[in-house]
Amino acid sequence: MKVDPTYERNLEIHLHGPGPSDVPAAVLRAMSAATIGHLDSEFIKIMDEAQAMLRMLYQTENRMTIPISGTGSSGMETLVANLINPQDKVIVVRNGVFGGRIADEVSRFGGEVISIDLEWGTVVTPEEIRKAFSRNRCHALFLVHAETSTGAHQQHMREIGEIVHQNGALFLVDAVTSLGGTEVKMDEWGIDAAYSGTQKCLSVPPGLSPITLNEKAMQKLRARKARSWYFDLNMIEEYWNEGYQRKYHHTAPINMIYALHEGLRLALQEGLDARFQRHRRNAAALQAGLEALGFTYLVKKQNERLPMLHAVYLPDGLEEGKLRQNIRARYNIEIGAGLGEFSGKAWRIGLMGHSSTKDKVGRLLNCIGEELKKHGIIDDATIGFQTAQAIYQNSES
Ligand SMILES: *Cc1c(COP(=O)(O)O)cnc(C)c1O
Repeated sequence: MKVDPTYERNLEIHLHGPGPSDVPAAVLRAMSAATIGHLDSEFIKIMDEAQAMLRMLYQTENRMTIPISGTGSSGMETLVANLINPQDKVIVVRNGVFGGRIADEVSRFGGEVISIDLEWGTVVTPEEIRKAFSRNRCHALFLVHAETSTGAHQQHMREIGEIVHQNGALFLVDAVTSLGGTEVKMDEWGIDAAYSGTQKCLSVPPGLSPITLNEKAMQKLRARKARSWYFDLNMIEEYWNEGYQRKYHHTAPINMIYALHEGLRLALQEGLDARFQRHRRNAAALQAGLEALGFTYLVKKQNERLPMLHAVYLPDGLEEGKLRQNIRARYNIEIGAGLGEFSGKAWRIGLMGHSSTKDKVGRLLNCIGEELKKHGIIDDATIGFQTAQAIYQNSES
């Protein structure tokens, strides 16, 4: 069999789907450094630094802040396997694909799901959470901060955290798409445990799930054995956390941790506020451009739209799949398809991490504009681009 390393073709691809996002060259270079031993003192220094930087991203003091070996979903499984006991009642907000997955995961581990089912594209209100707690004595609330299937940005995090704690429960959060692209204030919002992924706004390839748990969550898991060997945080802690014996549990994915280390270093070098501001600015420009091209947002309320993920309906008369494939083939731009209820009906356009730049917004709008003009939807192919440029000019003046 003759196989070619096709991934070495210089593709110059632009990733504007729901993840992965464009990876900076510095991160790819970091990944290609020599692999060293997972118990080597030089590697342990890299681990310690990665942990310290992750705490800054999560805006937390939590000692237990580590990357789990696995994609974002492995963080979800870690939290559930360590924190949810059989028959525990867990409130799960289901307003998109990922809320649905959390409910599935909790029930597979024997938890009882108390679901709050909402229309996709909306977010939960503190009132709805309060009501769910008043009806049931629940052990935890699980919600998605940035629902990548709909583009909805959960609001009222601090207030929800207060309600959860008044009810003596744990506040568990999926921060896969939000971390590194918008504020995630673990400690201030009273989140007890959260997980994320590397390939969204951190712009590191997929493969790790940064998680963080506070002391209250750690106490709960110390009281018993996790129902997963691989994701047992009591065992993993003995390898990761300073002050323990650095005991072998499983071999850390060394080169992925180099990549994470570099991705975090770049994020902090830019500065979190500047980074969030960049995501918001590019989002405002893209939104104006898409609306000028005739797209409409699936999330109706402006303040509930994510800056890093734009879920939009196409103008009438277009076949989404074909158009998306043309854009990939002609311009090397990847756009995401609608997921779940929105499959075949919408696009998900990502401006995550390194994919969120003024140039990339301009290129996206020009390419989409070209295609819409070919289909007779608009007369001027540059109308989206021009509208976005005007937004940039206004924000700069
Ligand atoms: C991408 C994503 C996940 C799953 O992450 P994987 O890396 O695909 O396992 C979970 N939750 C949300 C909100 C996501 O966007």
